[in-house]
Amino acid sequence: MEIINRRQRMSSVARKIRREQDRTIGLVPTMGALHEGHLSLVREARRMCDFVVVSIFVNPAQFGPGEDYERYPRELTKDTALLTDYNVDYIFAPPVEEIYPKGFSTYVTVEGFSEQLEGAARPGHFRGVATVVTVLLNTVKPDFAFFGQKDAQQALIIKRLVKDLAFDSEIVVLPTVREDSGLAISSRNTYLSPDEQAAAGVIHRALTQAKATYKQGERSGGKIADVVRSIVESEPRARLDYVTVADGETLERLEKLDDRPVLIAVAAYIGKTRLIDNTVLNSTKKKDAIVKA
Ligand code: AMP
Repeated sequence: MEIINRRQRMSSVARKIRREQDRTIGLVPTMGALHEGHLSLVREARRMCDFVVVSIFVNPAQFGPGEDYERYPRELTKDTALLTDYNVDYIFAPPVEEIYPKGFSTYVTVEGFSEQLEGAARPGHFRGVATVVTVLLNTVKPDFAFFGQKDAQQALIIKRLVKDLAFDSEIVVLPTVREDSGLAISSRNTYLSPDEQAAAGVIHRALTQAKATYKQGERSGGKIADVVRSIVESEPRARLDYVTVADGETLERLEKLDDRPVLIAVAAYIGKTRLIDNTVLNSTKKKDAIVKA
C-alpha cells in the first residue's frame, strides 16, 4: 500500500491503472478516524474493484465557523494500519494546500438539494462537500465511488452532481452501520461520554418508532415528525435540532405520505455533540447493518 500526498502523483498512478492495465478503480472518500461504517464501504470497494483508493481529508470547506474543524479526530497512523489489513492499494491523504492551492476560486453548488435539512442547519456545508468530491473524482477518475446512507442528503447531492456534470464514475450508496444500541456509527461519537453514548440511542429509537407508526397506517408527515420529536425530547441529554419528513428523491418536505420512498432525517445534540441519522420508508434497498459495539 502506498500513501500518496500529492494530487499529481495520485492522478498519474490512477491514469496508469486505467490506461496501461485496464483495471477498475474504486474510491472511498473519508475524513479519516475510520470506523466500521467506513470499513463497510472499503469492503464493498474491495469486492467490486481491482484497485481501491481511500481518501482521507478533513475538508475545511465543509465546516462552518464555530464547528469542529480543528478538533475533528485525525488518526492517520491508526487508519493506515486498518487499511493495510483491508488490502487497500492507495491512501490519498493530501494536505489542505494540495486540494485548495493558493488562488483556488471555483466552488460547486448542487442547487435545490443543498438548502434544506443539513444545508439549512449548516450553510455552505454541501458547497464544500460537492467541491471536494469534484476534485477527488477528477483526480482519481474512479469507476465507482462509495458513500454511506448515514449521510443521506450528501449521497443524493453527489448522485445529482455526477449526473449533471457528466462524471464518468458510478456512485454506490451503502446502508448505515450501527452499534448494537442502534446508534449510527460516526467519527463524532468519540466526543460522547459513556452516559451520552447511552443517551444517543434515543435517535434511532425515535426513527424506529416513526417507521412503526407509518406501518400502522399514519400518513401525515407532521404526525410522524411529532413521534420523533417527542421521543428525542424525552431524553434529558438530547436536544432536537430538526426532524424532517421529505420525499426520498427530491428532499421536498412531505405533508401527505404515500408509498413513494420517504426520508425521515434527524439532527440532534447529545450534550454538545451534534449527530445526524435517518431512515427511509418504502425503501427497496438493503437494511442497515448492525455491528457489535
Ligand atoms: P466521513 O468520514 O464522516 O466524511 O464519512 C465518509 C463516508 O463514510 C461517507 O460516505 C459517510 O456517509 C460514510 N459513513 C460514515 N458513517 C457511516 C456509517 N455508520 N455507516 C455507513 N457509512 C458511513
